[in-house]
Order: sequence, then structure tokens, then C-alpha cells
Amino acid sequence: MKLSWKNLLLWSLPIIIITFFIWQGLFTPITDERNNIANSRMTYGRFLEYIDMGWVKKVDIYDNGHTAIIEAIGPELGNRIQKIRVELPANASELISKLKKNNVDLDAHPIKNTAAIWSLLGNLLFPLILIVGLIFLFRRSNNNTGGPGQAMSFGKSKALFQMEAKTGIVFDDVAGIDEAKEEFEEIVTFLKKPEYFTNVGAKIPKGVLLVGPPGTGKTLLAKAIAGEADVPFFSISGSEFVEMFVGVGASRVRDLFKKAKENAPCIIFIDEIDAVGRQRGTGIGGGNDEREQTLNQLLTEMDGFEGNTGIIVIAATNRADILDSALLRPGRFDRQVMVNIPDFKGRLSILEVHARNKKINKNVSLKIIARRTPGFSGADLANLLNEAAILAARKRKESITLKEIDNAIDRIIAGMEGTPLLDSKSKRLIAYHEIGHAIVGTLLKDHENVQKVTLIPRGQARGLTWFTPSEDQSLISRAQIKAKIMGALGGRAAEEIVFGNAEITTGASNDLQQVTSMARQMVTRFGMSNIGPLSLENEDSNPFLGRGMANTNEYSDEIAIKIDEQIFTIIKECHKKTLEIIKNNRVIIDKLVDVLIEKETIDGNEFRSIISQYTIIPNKT
Ligand code: ADP
Ligand code: MG
Ligand code: ZN
Repeated sequence: MKLSWKNLLLWSLPIIIITFFIWQGLFTPITDERNNIANSRMTYGRFLEYIDMGWVKKVDIYDNGHTAIIEAIGPELGNRIQKIRVELPANASELISKLKKNNVDLDAHPIKNTAAIWSLLGNLLFPLILIVGLIFLFRRSNNNTGGPGQAMSFGKSKALFQMEAKTGIVFDDVAGIDEAKEEFEEIVTFLKKPEYFTNVGAKIPKGVLLVGPPGTGKTLLAKAIAGEADVPFFSISGSEFVEMFVGVGASRVRDLFKKAKENAPCIIFIDEIDAVGRQRGTGIGGGNDEREQTLNQLLTEMDGFEGNTGIIVIAATNRADILDSALLRPGRFDRQVMVNIPDFKGRLSILEVHARNKKINKNVSLKIIARRTPGFSGADLANLLNEAAILAARKRKESITLKEIDNAIDRIIAGMEGTPLLDSKSKRLIAYHEIGHAIVGTLLKDHENVQKVTLIPRGQARGLTWFTPSEDQSLISRAQIKAKIMGALGGRAAEEIVFGNAEITTGASNDLQQVTSMARQMVTRFGMSNIGPLSLENEDSNPFLGRGMANTNEYSDEIAIKIDEQIFTIIKECHKKTLEIIKNNRVIIDKLVDVLIEKETIDGNEFRSIISQYTIIPNKT
């Protein structure tokens, strides 16, 4: 539990309420006794008259002589003995003598004194319980890292960094990022046998920066170092430094390093370091004193300890380009290790790691899964196998089969499965649209193979055509991009030919977006147009602004017009060819649509075998 005012308020409220009830419950009976006994009241004057008449039998005095409960009998009381309450004036000296004179039984009750003590105690007890309760809470919330006596120290980083004495993670748990791993194996030696390095006068690095997209295993790798070297692991996230009180972040950094020094050798892991380590004073978005103070403190701390104290600071970020250059100077995070999205081989070995503790059917080939999942990070792959395991458990299966894995992949890429439409005109239109994509893709030599076509909706899509990604995604030829553009136009083209221009739908909007983006990149980034081999735009040039805002194009207006012309020409040409493919294969398309509507899903092999009854499918390379 984190210590914050919100939490404090949240927890103290029930305590206040509970204590209030305890207080009420404990102390009301005393006052109640007096109230209930004598519900009827009498004025002091009338009471004196009653005494004179000899109607008063007994007087009990309470409350330091402020209240009297009398037992009296009289005409107004229905001639029965009754208990009556009388408020006495401050100085009622004549009363005592009068009572003596009339021989009335008089008793002063000590209960009034204990009542006073009780009520005094009661008044004290309520705040007391509250304070004890609050202290207890502060203690508890600080228990993670702090001992007793540290309650209420806001600036301290208690509970805001985690310490794991043993991470339990070893290098074998990390797969697919071999270069990064090698780099880190050396760091383990630094921690275990520093003398190897110090003997020859080598300085042990203080900081290592892990750079890579989310989910690629940066945290995992840092933990693995700690696990392999058998040292404690201190971790904190950069976003946790940025607090609402100025100066808190800086004092947290101080504390973190202090604790780490006490536990050296150890690893300090700072996740999301870009949250504090962003370039200072860039102007855009205004300065942030708190962040700068925290960063300065971090730099000071890193300079402050000698290289050989056995502390290695590992920081992670998904963009090194926006970090303050002071962080990257020698003696700080001067080592940078890139962790990338895994390739086919990497995916396969990550899958092998995560398949270790799962029952996967013998018929499942992890290679096929690895092939189907380009672009997946390590975390995506771990998630994929877990989703598949959940699906298998839901169906009470003995082991995970390819079916669950396929389903999990589709789910991660395209979203949750919906219920298919009933047979209707729009279902037919969707079927033609999808078959359009699939047949164009199949008949173009440079297009990827169809994996399956389905009318079962998923996420936003109401039908889907899946293609098997090609092995090598790093180099893509011009012919391949054009084939992709035509494949993406296939859906709309089929709608046009089959239903006519008036009936085309909005269903193609996503396809058109992709088509336009691919054509634009051909012209402006890959030099694949008549303009020539020029790079006119680059991806993500300004990290501080949104992509749309950062349009600092370095070409003239004439070039801008040419770019638009070239994009237009490419798409127009591709569209024409796509329409031809659809027209020339209308018979096959009608046949495929009938099958698809009946079966809702056609897999790649069946799809190709139907087509090959009518025409020749080009050999794909
Ligand atoms: P990051 O810190 O880069 O965002 P994490 O290290 O938190 O990613 O990864 C999240 C989870 O994904 C890990 O706990 C692990 O289960 C899995 N994972 C990610 N990368 C790998 C990898 N290279 N090898 C094995 N598992 C991985
Ligand atoms: Mg992480
Ligand atoms: Zn489409």
C-alpha cells in the first residue's frame, strides 16, 4: 500500500466512525440511568413546596449537587410514589436544612464523580484511539522496506522502491535476445569477481542503459543479472519519482542509493527512466522543476559512488533519443544495450522457455507459432501461450492444441471473437470483400499466402483474411509492396465489380488507410517512385510532438505536389490491376463466396485447392 493523503483519508474514516460508536456505546448508559429513572420533571420552587407539605420521601443528589432525583407522592402525581427529576440551582444551601427539618431521607451519590471521570476519559479516549489507529496504519504501510519508527516520514522512499533479496530469475529464463545477454553475462562477473577487473586496473561500469520496445524482456534481463550474481535487486520506476511534492523525488533517489550502498553488492534497476531523464529545458511543454531536481540528484548520486563499490545501476527505456545527454556521459549510463523485438529464431526460443511449464500437445510445432507471430514481443508470446492454456482449460482439455494457440494468436492480433451475422445481403457483401482480398493475394506471385478467410467477426473487423507472414520481414521488394497494395484493394474492388459503384461500403476504410500509407512510404522513404531515390520524410523525426504536428518537411512545395502525384499514380495503377483480377476470376469468386457463407471459415489449403480447379496459382518464392 502506498502512503498518500488519499489512502490516509480512506482508512481513517472508518476508524473515526468505529471509535465514535464505541465511545457512544460505552458512555451513554451512565447518563441514561438518570434520564430513564426520572422522566418527569419538577421545578425547584415546586420541589421546595413539596418538602414543606411533607410529600417528599427521599432525595438522591447527583452531578455535584446539580441534579436531584426525588421520590415523592402528591395529588399531581396521582397519589402514587414516583421518581422525579429536579434541576437544582448552584447555591441550594437552604435545601439541606429544609430537608433535615422535614426529616427527608437524603443521599448524595458518589456516582456523579465517577461519571465525571468516565466522561473525561471518554473525551480523551476517542482521539486516543484515533491516533493509535493512524500510527498503526502508518507503520503498516511502511512495512515493506522500513522498520518501526519511520512513520510519517514523507520524503523517504519507503514502499516506493521494491527490494528483492533473490529474484529467482536466471539467464535461462531469458531467450531470443542473445547479444544483450552476452553483454550482461560480463556484468555478472563484475559483481561476483570484481578483483578480476580491479587487479588489472579496469574500472567497473556504473550504469547500463537497456533500450528497447515494451515487453522485450528488459526488466526480466535486469532481474536475471541479480539472480545469476545472487545479489539483491532494488527497483523503482521513473514515473514513481515524479511526485506531487517538490523535492520528494530527489530525496527518494537519495534514499534509494543509501539503502543500496548498505546492501552492496547489488543491482539498482530504474524502469522508465525517460520519465525523469528526459532532455532538460527543451522548452516544449514547459519546464518541470521537480523532474529536473530528481534528475540532478540521480546524476549526483551516480557520480558520488566509486566504480568499485559493487553497485550497478541498470536503467530501462524505450527511447534513448530523448534522454538527457548528461545521463549518457562516461561514468554514468555509458553502456547502452539494445533489446529488440525478436526475430523468428528469437521467437522460437522464447516460446520454448514459456512452453517449459505448460502441457502442449505433441502435434503442436512451436516453429509454426513462431512463424505466425512476426512483430510479437517476448511478453506477447508469453501472453499468447497463457491465453491458449486458459482456453484449453476452459474446454477441459488434457493439453494445449494448435486450435487454442491459433485462437489466441487471432485474439491478440485482432481482438475478441464476435458472433457471425445471419445470412443477409451484408453478409454476402462481406464475403465478397474478404474473398476479394484472398483471391488477389493468392493470384499475385509476390503476395504472402492466404492462411485462412473467415466471416467470424473479431474486434472491429466483421470478416478477416489472414495471410502467413513471409520468413524474412526485414527486406521487402518493390514488387512485394505493390502486391500488398493490390491485396489490400482486393476487398473494395470485389464490392465494386459485384455490387456496383453505388453499393460500395465504408468497410474498406481501414484497407484504404493502409494502401495510402504504403504508397506514401514508397515515394517518400524508399525511393520507389519516379521522383527518384530520395528520402523525403523519416519516421518519428520529432519525439516531442505528435506526428501530425511535427511536419517539418525539408522539401519544396513543387516536390510536395510531385509526391501527391506519385502516390496517386501508384494507387491508380494498382487499383486497375486489382479490378482486372476480380473481373477475370468472377466464376471462382462466386463459388468461393458460396463455400465461405456456408462454412464461415476456409483455411488456406482448402482455399487454394478450390482455386486450382479453375486456374493456375503462381509459385510463391
Ligand atoms: P520490458 O521490461 O522490456 O517491458 P518485461 O521484462 O517486463 O519487458 O517482460 C514481461 C514478460 O514477458 C516477462 O516477465 C517474460 O515472461 C516475458 N518475456 C519478455 N521478453 C522475454 C524474453 N526475451 N525471454 C523470455 N521471456 C520474455
Ligand atoms: Mg519493464
Ligand atoms: Zn478489407
